[in-house]
Amino acid sequence: MDKTQLIEKVKNAGIIGAGGAGFPTAVKLNSAPEFVIVNGIECEPLIQVDQQLAALNAPVLLKTLDTLVETLGAKQGIFAIKEKYVKAHNALKSEISKYPRLTIKTLISAYPMGDEQVLVYETIGRIVPEAGIPLNVGAVVINTETLFNIGKALEDMPITEKFVSVVGAVKNPKTFKVPLGITMRSLIEEAGGATVENPILIDGGPMMGKIERNLDAPITKITKSIIVLEQNHPIIISKEQAIRQMLTLAKAACCHCMMCSLVCPRNLLGHSLYPDKLMRLAAYNSTCEKDIGAATAYLCCECRLCEYACIMQLQPWKLNKELKIRLKAADIKNPHKNAPSKVNTFREYSRYPTDKLVRQLGLSKYYHIDAPMSDWTKEISEVVLPTRQHFGAPAEPIAAVGAQIKKGEIIAKMPDGVLGADIHSSIDGIVKSVDKNNIVIQRG
Ligand code: SF4
Ligand code: SF4
Repeated sequence: MDKTQLIEKVKNAGIIGAGGAGFPTAVKLNSAPEFVIVNGIECEPLIQVDQQLAALNAPVLLKTLDTLVETLGAKQGIFAIKEKYVKAHNALKSEISKYPRLTIKTLISAYPMGDEQVLVYETIGRIVPEAGIPLNVGAVVINTETLFNIGKALEDMPITEKFVSVVGAVKNPKTFKVPLGITMRSLIEEAGGATVENPILIDGGPMMGKIERNLDAPITKITKSIIVLEQNHPIIISKEQAIRQMLTLAKAACCHCMMCSLVCPRNLLGHSLYPDKLMRLAAYNSTCEKDIGAATAYLCCECRLCEYACIMQLQPWKLNKELKIRLKAADIKNPHKNAPSKVNTFREYSRYPTDKLVRQLGLSKYYHIDAPMSDWTKEISEVVLPTRQHFGAPAEPIAAVGAQIKKGEIIAKMPDGVLGADIHSSIDGIVKSVDKNNIVIQRG
């Protein structure tokens, strides 16, 4: 198989980054990297998909990684996991000797170790430039589940299913492989139901996931976990606090201690992002420094770690998010493109322990509880498949109402040359309704 065939198979299977970003994988693979790095870090607390996939499917994952290394002409494939994922590490270790071009890299449990730029530095010691991507330093980074899906695509199987951890306030935390488009509610029921009144969900990890109040929201290609929490959980309050209120607090309470900048993963990589200075800019309209302007907010990856380092519980990430929105609206582009040659001297000592973060997040009671990979038993009568489950433009529906559809058949397609990914039906059934946002298929 050559690179063109590989890319075609991945594109035809509708594969996107399963880690949450949803970038079309075929576009990422249309490159000539030196290193293919598998991101098996899963640095957001509570999520347990990738570590179990690695423990249960090491042979196929390593075979697929070796195929990628061979086909892309890379010199090495690196499977990065946390050292605490003992089962995954053992499973990979028992297979790795078959593949001389592959290595395993174990990393400490710190947040955000799975951030692409952090991971690239930790695995190959190269710094991704400001506003850059791993390919700028010769690397392509692929999430474990994405690698698993590429393995399926090589056998011409499209994405119709998703692995999802259901954790937090549920009776029996579990990880399921489910058809795309079923409701979050059905997963919670299959995990024994919520243990709190009027639960509220986080779609994704507790740090970067988004609040989901609609329990009937569909599972998409980027749903990695559903965290069930009580309405007044500190994470919910933090994410929902209004920017105006936070800035009012910041004016009164920010003591310019710099703790936010001292833990900021992008600052520690040598990027010119100083959340403490941006807070000062918001409060006083000046930092008295020529090189620190509002546009440095573009360098923020919104990992939210600065909030948990802040002794005043302020939220520099929220300011950065707002700044980015306003700058884009004013058509001001990111001018920061430096390529640092060295990281912060104290970086190694400033990595933020996940255990500490979990305590601060108020998640200790849900941590260290297994969410084992489990069989799905519930009958599925209907799926709702959004036409936009990926980075880029929505796919255009091609399925007609009333049509009989087979599992794996394309129901929405990307126009030629437009960034995105095709959508395939996740069940056999009949198309019940179609609009530009969703396609509903009823089993039948
Ligand atoms: S950590 Fe908090 S108080 Fe300290 S500079 Fe940053 S925002 Fe201000
Ligand atoms: S969210 Fe905060 S800690 Fe994370 S990159 Fe942005 S400024 Fe740095």
